[in-house]
Amino acid sequence: MTAQMIDIGVNLTNSRFDKDRDNVLENALNAGVSHQIITGTSLTESESALALCQQYNNLFCTAGIHPHDADNAPSNYIEQLTKLASNDEVRAIGECGLDFNRNFSTPENQQRVFSEQVALAARLHMPLFLHQRDAFTPWQAILKPSLDSIPAAVSHCFTGNLTELKSCLDMGLYIGITGWICDDRRGQELYDIAKYIPLDRIMIETDAPYLTPRTIRPKPKSSRNEPKYLPFVAQTLAQAMTIDTDTLIMHTSNNAKAFFNITG
Ligand SMILES: [Zn+2]
Repeated sequence: MTAQMIDIGVNLTNSRFDKDRDNVLENALNAGVSHQIITGTSLTESESALALCQQYNNLFCTAGIHPHDADNAPSNYIEQLTKLASNDEVRAIGECGLDFNRNFSTPENQQRVFSEQVALAARLHMPLFLHQRDAFTPWQAILKPSLDSIPAAVSHCFTGNLTELKSCLDMGLYIGITGWICDDRRGQELYDIAKYIPLDRIMIETDAPYLTPRTIRPKPKSSRNEPKYLPFVAQTLAQAMTIDTDTLIMHTSNNAKAFFNITG
């Protein structure tokens, strides 16, 4: 039997799972995904994520404001995140960070809401679940001074280049790899640099319902990604790192257990 996997990034509160969430969870378990970390991307989504965790015992979650949602953060959001984070199921602050690729929120608000959440993680001594796209330099500038006071941080859905990867590793970050690496159109660079990630710093995630691995055969009818497809991420990543899939899974699961404090 292959080792159990932990999907560290699932947007299970997404409405695309409303009709069959129970099945999605059962199929994930059958595919060898023992635990999932449900991503909180706004106050509402973080509350829903927590509610799901309280319903199913193999789920944990993050609480945070995604950069896309920074413009909508109410003035007391830090107070509300603090309250959410006091629940045992909440295991990291995030998803937070900067996304200058689409600027759904103004860069000013993104930077303010990000630095306030970094400060919150430091104050609560909680890990950080980080998002970054097309904003590496300002992202690093906000993050770096606080990292000493934060137990651990992961650059989720890492899609950067080798220079950025090395900077992340130098900062002590974990690297989250999604099905982006299975995409031969835009994931080739990530595939090529994956071998530079040390085994004690790597974790795997689907980012479902987004980023369906393009290596799934037979090709699924639906475009919706699911945690049950995590093995395809593991296989391609192991290939890129020229190690066997079981070894990779063993390390990613141990890393995720330590990072999110999952016992058993
Ligand atoms: Zn993200």
